[in-house]
Amino acid sequence: MRWLIALLALNFVLHAQAAKGPPVPDYPADRVAEGVYVIHGPLTTPNPENQGFMNNPALVMTSAGVVVVDPGGSLQSGEMVLRVLKKLTDRPVVAVFNTHIHGDHWLGNQAIRAAYPNARIYAHPKMIEMARNGAGDDWISLLEQAAPGAADGTVPGIPDQPVDNGQSIRIGDTEFRIHHFGQTHTPTDIMLSIRDGRILFTGDNLLNGRLGNTRDAHIGHMIEATDALVGKLDPQVIIPGHGRSGDRAMYEHAMEPFRVIYRIVREQYDEGLSDFEIKPMVVEALQDYRDWEEFDTLIGKMVNQAWLEIEEADF
Ligand SMILES: [Zn+2]
Repeated sequence: MRWLIALLALNFVLHAQAAKGPPVPDYPADRVAEGVYVIHGPLTTPNPENQGFMNNPALVMTSAGVVVVDPGGSLQSGEMVLRVLKKLTDRPVVAVFNTHIHGDHWLGNQAIRAAYPNARIYAHPKMIEMARNGAGDDWISLLEQAAPGAADGTVPGIPDQPVDNGQSIRIGDTEFRIHHFGQTHTPTDIMLSIRDGRILFTGDNLLNGRLGNTRDAHIGHMIEATDALVGKLDPQVIIPGHGRSGDRAMYEHAMEPFRVIYRIVREQYDEGLSDFEIKPMVVEALQDYRDWEEFDTLIGKMVNQAWLEIEEADF
């Protein structure tokens, strides 16, 4: 009988070990400013090839230690971020910021917390509430469908430090300013600026090279708020939620399709047209962006979303 229990226990241990997905291969850390690195992830949605890693984890070196912005979308992505960080410095991670509730940005928290239990994890209070209510589990189920096995072993690591618009968090020699404008890409978004606004982390309020899922967004507010913040801070380096970081010219190019969608939908809404009639006009106007990732799958949804927002404001 004892051997049977031992065998069952061994089987359980082996199974538990097998239940962790394979490592995400190391991606390069690109230096975007002195002491600031971005691991630019793939632009594709989660699939077996990218193993669910698709965002832009960033590493900020401060005199107190390392600050990670958005450590990736799974345990494995977070572990990759830590391996890449080790190639740059032996200094510990002292804090993490999560820009919003979408799991591709924050499920890597688990790996950071396992390696650095004292690291503080900051997020907007609405994000913390949604994370506590199981939003991370929804993302894990989505990963199980899109990249089977890749994120096995991932357990949501809930942020524990609420931060809101106007707050400043000083970490060593670096001050992180928090910007929140209600519902933008989601109702939970924070944008972060450091070094007197010279460097800006937008989260998914800016996407460079792909369209975005806007099911939780108010596209109009998102464009307005992000444009206003960029106008005010005049940052020299802008780090989007997905796609290459760049300067103000990159920003203008990457935000343009969102502005074009909104402008055309508003004009044609006023002419009495429906979203399905407006869509081909938008596609025609955005020929330069046809090679953007997810263009064909998301353009119709974005036109529909913009149309509903404009209708609601008109009501
Ligand atoms: Zn997002």
